[in-house]
Amino acid sequence: MTDLFIGGQWTGAIDERTREIRCPADGSLVAVVDEGGGKDAAEAVAAARQAFDQGPWPRTPVGARGDLLLRVAGLVERDKAALARAESLDTGKRLAESEVDIDGVVACFRYYGQLVRTEADRVVDTGSEHAVSRVVYEPVGVCALITPWNYPLLQTAWKVAPALAAGNTFVLKPSELTPSTAIALMRLLAEAGLPDGVANLVLGPGAEAGAPLTDNPDVDMVSFTGGLRTGRRIMAAASGTVKRTSLELGGKNPNVVFADADFDTAVDYALTAVFLHSGQVCSAGARLLVEDPVHDAFVEEVVRRARGIRLGGPFDERAQTGPLISAAHRAKVEAYVAAGLAEGARLRCGGTRPDDPALADGYYFLPTVLDRCHSGMSVLADESFGPVLTVERFSGEDEAVRLANDTVYGLAGAVWSGDEERAQRVASRLRLGTVWINDYHPCLPQAEWGGFKQSGTGRELGPSGLAEYREAKHIWRNT
Ligand code: NAD
Repeated sequence: MTDLFIGGQWTGAIDERTREIRCPADGSLVAVVDEGGGKDAAEAVAAARQAFDQGPWPRTPVGARGDLLLRVAGLVERDKAALARAESLDTGKRLAESEVDIDGVVACFRYYGQLVRTEADRVVDTGSEHAVSRVVYEPVGVCALITPWNYPLLQTAWKVAPALAAGNTFVLKPSELTPSTAIALMRLLAEAGLPDGVANLVLGPGAEAGAPLTDNPDVDMVSFTGGLRTGRRIMAAASGTVKRTSLELGGKNPNVVFADADFDTAVDYALTAVFLHSGQVCSAGARLLVEDPVHDAFVEEVVRRARGIRLGGPFDERAQTGPLISAAHRAKVEAYVAAGLAEGARLRCGGTRPDDPALADGYYFLPTVLDRCHSGMSVLADESFGPVLTVERFSGEDEAVRLANDTVYGLAGAVWSGDEERAQRVASRLRLGTVWINDYHPCLPQAEWGGFKQSGTGRELGPSGLAEYREAKHIWRNT
């Protein structure tokens, strides 16, 4: 077996361990892959270090780096069908959603392929005719890129494209649950002509293959997307060698509906906000806040429609949402719901596994709505990362803002109102990295993505997403 990619060579794990990848929708075997650990991670870092210190990539002109990214975009587009299928088999998500994700991967490589060539060094006015001064941008160095299982290739592209555009070398450590498209991407990067050692892939569990990347002195930067608890650990591990860290963590995202919102549209989006990909979305609208006058009717309609959501596997075209990623994750979601009920939340629908025998082999959980939720409850504080919607009632703008901001997270959220000025006012008061007005979920490669508060540090996408991977150097010359 040769699933690790180190120094331009496909290789097996040093300890010869393997892992079975099974589809969460029915438990069927998707692949058996190498399972690496600390020794593999160290080899991959050494290869990335050598490619950075001695290889051509960091010194390749930006135009040529941009061209390579555009070639990668073309190759991903060529292989879209196979990549989407692989993504769906690993994650259990609907094929149509995986196709949209792959389009996002193409768009991300295209965006950075173009952006990098427009980014110029800066001449600074020294105020003296005897000195010239300019600021140039250089790559940070060797980057550890650590990604989660919910959007495997998309989250990877958000890191790999700007890291390469800026001239870095990297070691990618995808989630141990969903490695297939990371393996495929390495093949495409090589096909596009990326020099050996620039892109390296290590597979394996976080504690064994990921953690050794985060305190290795030869790693200059860690870019991580995943849970808050892991993010804290990584920040601590990286502090020993003062690595640059970029952290995209969880969210507890408020979806705020005012009484003057378009009722039907807001109901539609309240459902997709939270039940898309069974709630396994960092920006899922898992907290529904509804203004008093429409609260009861709105929640009634959300519950009625949530009961009708059809569950199914990735290739069931009638399915509206799919399974959770693993038995362990479903058990966590079940414990989360049980804690909410014990604290006094009222179960309006769901709360259990479906009783459909056709779904018995997958990790399904019914779309669930809990109302009468209030501050202090664990279901409002913790991310469930499952198909669970909590409902809160509010009266007026100030209370909406206070409740929406009452969380340690600050990733994303939405405001629904027919009054544009009010919507803008509330949006500006929300401590969130992304606010949608009368919409939910859209995201563009040109616009920054990331969290306020404990949802993370730094930004992905947009010009800031490139800046994360660059050092600014001031060069002053006396004439
Ligand atoms: P996770 O934190 O368990 O794992 C993420 C990655 O980190 C995996 O590759 C894992 O193997 C690795 N890892 C685990 N422990 C590690 C350690 N000690 N050192 C180094 N690496 C380690 O998260 P997950 O369960 O895979 O993903 C779900 C989480 O990701 C949710 O909290 C979700 O909100 C978050 N997420 C955030 C964004 C965002 O853009 N902010 C996007 C997607 C997912």
